[in-house]
Amino acid sequence: MTDQPRMNVESFNLDHRTVAAPYLRIADRKELPGGDVLTKFDVRFTQPNVEHLDTETVHSLEHMMAEHMRNHSGDVLDVSPMGCRTGFYVLLVGDRTVEDFAPVLEATLRDLLAADEVPAANEVQCGWGAHHSLEGAQTAAREFLDQRSVWDQVTAD
Ligand code: ZN
Repeated sequence: MTDQPRMNVESFNLDHRTVAAPYLRIADRKELPGGDVLTKFDVRFTQPNVEHLDTETVHSLEHMMAEHMRNHSGDVLDVSPMGCRTGFYVLLVGDRTVEDFAPVLEATLRDLLAADEVPAANEVQCGWGAHHSLEGAQTAAREFLDQRSVWDQVTAD
């Protein structure tokens, strides 16, 4: 496992056994031909290969973060769930640091806790409108926020 060839996807080069979720880290930074920069964050809710989020929870967190985060930043390009259901990727315009993004994420999750519905959880606006859990999303958000002071600690040591 330690002599894996270098892979194209940044997170495939991350040893997921060494991380300590929840955490926030920069997964990628891309300078575009015009000179603009994009920053991709790894927002990890649960410990890889130990715990994962329910699919309804992932889906509702996706909707809620995608909608509410744009009230706190005009630079959000994308919020996408990880297929392993342990977290999300958030893509932002600009050369961002964890210190820049953490307050945006915190404000987003506080909105989410105060919300009384999952936005766009219906058959018109979503591909599986019935597949949602507001309670699950709020529980996961609360647990993530409870660990706010250690978001910048990515590894266990
Ligand atoms: Zn949806």
